[in-house]
Amino acid sequence: MAAEVIDGKAVAAQVRGRVAADVISVSDGMGRPPGLATVLVGEDPASAIYVRRKREACEEVGISSFHHEPPGDISQADLLGLVEELNGNDEIDGILVQLPLPDGLDAGEVVNALSPSKDVDGLTPTSAGLLARGDPSGLVPCTPSGVMELLRSAGVDPSGKEAVIVGRSNLVGKPLYSLLLGANATVTTCHSRTADLGEVCRRGEILVAAAGQPKLITADMVCPAATVIDVGTNRTDGGLVGDVDFEPVTEVAGAITPVPGGVGPMTIAMLLYNTVKAARASAAG
Ligand code: NDP
Repeated sequence: MAAEVIDGKAVAAQVRGRVAADVISVSDGMGRPPGLATVLVGEDPASAIYVRRKREACEEVGISSFHHEPPGDISQADLLGLVEELNGNDEIDGILVQLPLPDGLDAGEVVNALSPSKDVDGLTPTSAGLLARGDPSGLVPCTPSGVMELLRSAGVDPSGKEAVIVGRSNLVGKPLYSLLLGANATVTTCHSRTADLGEVCRRGEILVAAAGQPKLITADMVCPAATVIDVGTNRTDGGLVGDVDFEPVTEVAGAITPVPGGVGPMTIAMLLYNTVKAARASAAG
């Protein structure tokens, strides 16, 4: 039987609806709407599209967006100065520096300069540390928290289940490990040196592919009835494809996310969620 296809657009729309309602109550309390600053350095076309979508999404739910577009040859010191200025701006609750940065700029140093209370991408060491300790007060990276939301919406409780993640980046794989572990799954993380990827993936009642390798996960690597979440976003000559070989895997899996229309819409929805969470924390003071 073909797998249930999890509709990320629909789940994201639900999250956005909840966020829009929260924006109204938070704005009443603060006397201003929550604010998100976006920083787009240089002219990378893909980054420009991502940032535009994020700003449009803010507008839709009533979050004020403050956009900065420094030139690609901005110095590291000036970029750090901009981050410092945004850290100190009381109208701004969240700061998003779109990555990757142009060559010559040190993204790690820029991320570390963000105030953890405004770190809506959840990438600072403080955010990562809080997450690893299971402390819910921190801001969690948007894509992994979107994955958790998709699982919830599909009625999949990770507790007691074997979960396998392919990918160990700071952006996706590692935070997702902490989230799934916190939800009481038994979690295994794979990477490019994993000896027998298929054998490990087949253990996953929940299998998350976040490797950035088109169609890496084939049907023979999937446990029957598994919930398969495809984070991969790969631009190929044939269009946008995920890390999962979608059609054949639907014949094995119990539920699966498509690309596009799965995890992608969730990432933006969770950014909005994080911005309101940061605003609420700042209002509580
Ligand atoms: P990274 O390149 O930072 O990390 C990829 C990870 O996958 C690494 O840990 C790497 O292992 C592992 N990997 C690569 N090839 C293999 C392989 N053949 N077998 C096993 N593991 C492998 O990518 P990101 O985590 O940033 O992103 C992953 C994917 O998710 C990309 O396609 C990206 O575009 C997409 N993405 C989508 C988002 C969305 O909103 N839908 C948001 C963020 C990312 P190693 O550590 O050993 O190198």
